Amino acid sequence: MDTDTDVTVVGAGPTGLVAAGELARRGHRVTVLDSAPAPFPGPRGNGIQPRTLEVLDPLGVTDRLVALGTFRLPFRQYAIDGTVRERDRHPGLEPTPGQPFARPLIIPQWRTTQVLRERLAEFGVTVDQNARVVAVEQDQEGVTAVLDDRRRLRSRYLVGADGGSSTVRNALGVGFLGETHDEVRMLLAEVELDGLDRDHWHTFDLVGAGGAGFLSLCPMPASPTWALGLRSPDPDIRADEATLHTVVDGIRPRVRLRRIGWSSTWRLNVRMADRFRVDRVFLAGDAAHVHSPAGGQGLNTGIQDAINLGWKLAAVFDGAEDALLDTYEAERKPVAAAILGLSTELSRRVLGSGAGGYADRPAALARQGLQLDISYRTDPGASGLRPGDRAPDAPLGDTTLFLLRRQADWTVLAFDGITEPVDGAQVLDADALDVDGHLRRTYEPIPGERILIRPDGHLGWRGTGAVPATGTPSALGHAAHRGCGDHY
Ligand SMILES: Cc1cc2nc3c(=O)[nH]c(=O)nc-3n(C[C@H](O)[C@H](O)[C@H](O)COP(=O)(O)OP(=O)(O)OC[C@H]3O[C@@H](n4cnc5c(N)ncnc54)[C@H](O)[C@@H]3O)c2cc1C
Repeated sequence: MDTDTDVTVVGAGPTGLVAAGELARRGHRVTVLDSAPAPFPGPRGNGIQPRTLEVLDPLGVTDRLVALGTFRLPFRQYAIDGTVRERDRHPGLEPTPGQPFARPLIIPQWRTTQVLRERLAEFGVTVDQNARVVAVEQDQEGVTAVLDDRRRLRSRYLVGADGGSSTVRNALGVGFLGETHDEVRMLLAEVELDGLDRDHWHTFDLVGAGGAGFLSLCPMPASPTWALGLRSPDPDIRADEATLHTVVDGIRPRVRLRRIGWSSTWRLNVRMADRFRVDRVFLAGDAAHVHSPAGGQGLNTGIQDAINLGWKLAAVFDGAEDALLDTYEAERKPVAAAILGLSTELSRRVLGSGAGGYADRPAALARQGLQLDISYRTDPGASGLRPGDRAPDAPLGDTTLFLLRRQADWTVLAFDGITEPVDGAQVLDADALDVDGHLRRTYEPIPGERILIRPDGHLGWRGTGAVPATGTPSALGHAAHRGCGDHY
């Protein structure tokens, strides 16, 4: 088929950049279009969850992100009565051999997208800015993105990663149901200030006419800026400089705002698309689901959509059947729905209750927010690690399973010497590598078992029979006949 590119990615936010990176690093042609003149500079998703760091590792960006962010930033909470409390954000959470990242990484979203753009450029792909898609047309052979300057770009598939007000989603006529709560609002701004140390995330309880509220000031690592979040006790807050100065002037210890950069008022908006795939077009990230920012889930869910979709599209270009692409919606839609529920609950607790703010997240919800328990299981009741579950890391002599997984999309852990080759996968002699028995204790193989790990770091299959062909729905634990829209 004669196309301009293999995949058109509409939108160069974190979702689109990761989708493009996953295709480009596997040698496929990808074009990234973004309507904005330049990357978005303001504070948005400033936390990368541990699971997101894991799934980004094979793309080659995790080490760079970790070097530019911080895991350690305890809360310092200033109560109305003048008392000051310090609190670990995630008490007791430390890396383990199976889980190298225990806590969210704090890093501004603009930095995350900068790192992703730099990585993409290393594969020869740059973002086409000022490129607004106004329509999408598709037929059996391919899909055409129509731009506002009348350019037409033809590709085999298109990824709509163009954010909450997605043009691609609207062009497909896909519903976006949910709720907007105008009354739950927060003012967000990027500021520079004097008066606070940069070793804490400071939160100030506030009281006013409308009850309780809070001001959150989080220093952004490797940058002079702070992310300001204001849940005002005054219901009529406006996102202007005068409002910010008034609130900040009233807090103790005394803080001086030196510069106010980008700012906006955020309203609680929770929605999900009816479909994540319409033939050759896929929706991912905020185009498919919008969240409350309270739980730090939006950016993470989008990136994990992109990881799930990216390797599947690449596999189809390399000969896998199209049915593999149906597993994208089947796997990601239930995850997105569950995360929307979680982030709404976090929002209710964090924003609804007023005082305490981010510092008062319940521990159980905080654990869920790390996204380490996300699973694509098709047999929810079974015990032990099952197909669909996250494949944990393990020390293997002087290396680790995660480091070895960088070498290939598919990995087979072969126990008890059953190390015969598997087409399209690297086969690891588990017993030879597992010098301290960690792998065996974690994966609990039965005699002669082999375990197939997918490109996105989830278990695909385990058993003593023939390993399913990589790139087929059966290699993901999906029955081959099931299609888009089925419920698993
Ligand atoms: C104010 C605010 C605060 C937030 N705070 C948090 C937080 O604390 N934690 C968290 O995890 N998440 C937060 N989020 C959510 C997080 O920023 C998003 O989930 C994340 O940006 C989603 O990434 P995305 O790539 O899917 O979409 P976006 O980042 O929205 O990127 C979409 C891109 O598409 C481009 N585009 C749009 N229309 C077109 C078109 N027609 N043609 C071409 N390009 C187009 C846009 O220019 C943009 O670059 C916040 C969001 C907002 C708005």
